[in-house]
Amino acid sequence: MDLQIAVRVSSGAVARISAELRDCLDGNESGGYLFALRGEDKLMWASGAGPNAARSKSALTIDREYVRTFELYLRAQWGEDVGLAGRWHFHPSGTVEMSDTDCEGAVAGLELIEFEHDGGAWLDLVLTSSTDYPEIHAYVTSRDPISRRITHEPAKFEEVD
Ligand SMILES: [Zn+2]
Repeated sequence: MDLQIAVRVSSGAVARISAELRDCLDGNESGGYLFALRGEDKLMWASGAGPNAARSKSALTIDREYVRTFELYLRAQWGEDVGLAGRWHFHPSGTVEMSDTDCEGAVAGLELIEFEHDGGAWLDLVLTSSTDYPEIHAYVTSRDPISRRITHEPAKFEEVD
């Protein structure tokens, strides 16, 4: 397979994701959102799922109030260019692929980004092991500018400084 697109993630965000996973190894899904600075092709920050998240073996509903507070905190520190760029979640089943529900969520995320920033792509990280060095699979959801068709493509995951 030719994986042309690379999803770049800061080592700080990867460390945060690893820490979040260690805190919730109960066999249920876990996850959070990913944030970037507008105009930069690097995911800088990761949130957790929040104290009021609903978690099961095959589904996750993230605590929206927590994510909103997290985003406001990032903006207070790093400015108004901080924006939602994607999400990460853990598949306790070990499934590498995005589920139908995952794809629906990615389309909703893409539409939100298109509404707020006039275009772009939605990035997903799917984790399939919960060790200190989790196996991370990246996906890019984007819309073809001409056909308007939305695609979910596997991408290369890259951890950067
Ligand atoms: Zn999933």
